[in-house]
Amino acid sequence: MTEFPVRCYIGLGSNLDNPERHVTTAFEQLAEIGGCRLVTHSSLYRSDPVGPQDQPDFINAVAELHTSLEPETLLDQLQAIEQRHQRVRERHWGPRTLDLDLLLYGDRQIQTSRLTVPHPHIRERAFVLWPLAEIAADLSLPGGTTLSQWLALCPMGTLEQMPL
Ligand code: ATP
Ligand code: CA
Ligand code: CA
Repeated sequence: MTEFPVRCYIGLGSNLDNPERHVTTAFEQLAEIGGCRLVTHSSLYRSDPVGPQDQPDFINAVAELHTSLEPETLLDQLQAIEQRHQRVRERHWGPRTLDLDLLLYGDRQIQTSRLTVPHPHIRERAFVLWPLAEIAADLSLPGGTTLSQWLALCPMGTLEQMPL
């Protein structure tokens, strides 16, 4: 942890053009960011789309990354990876080849024009909470709650953990 002192969690999502491939390639690309070490990642999970329902199912996962980068520098790197997947921003919450969200950056609470951390929708999204629990069951969250408290309020619903 000393070289890369901050423990971060990244949420990955895709629902276009072979989503499993986009997410697994993104694991490799996260591992290659300078100033970061990919420690582990969850399984892939399939879920119904958030927002507009007339789009394919999502594949989601969460990765644990340790970093020496500042939050906005890390966001730049995440957005550069999204660009490499030819992500086009069309409608809000519409289909996308790859979405990388900075869920947690250590225990920091950040509010800038580009970044809100913890990511504002973590607690109501089963496709974030359950993969996070797979790799960080005992996680405490900034503000004094625990992941288990959030999980208790957010059932898996239609979320499915995919076989390896
Ligand atoms: P949601 O935030 O509801 O998951 P989204 O992922 O579809 O929606 P995007 O279009 O990917 O939203 O991102 C819009 C903007 O959100 C980005 O340009 C980025 O500056 C900002 N943003 C704020 N907080 C974060 C964060 N924690 N992680 C990633 N992007 C963030
Ligand atoms: Ca998102
Ligand atoms: Ca995003």
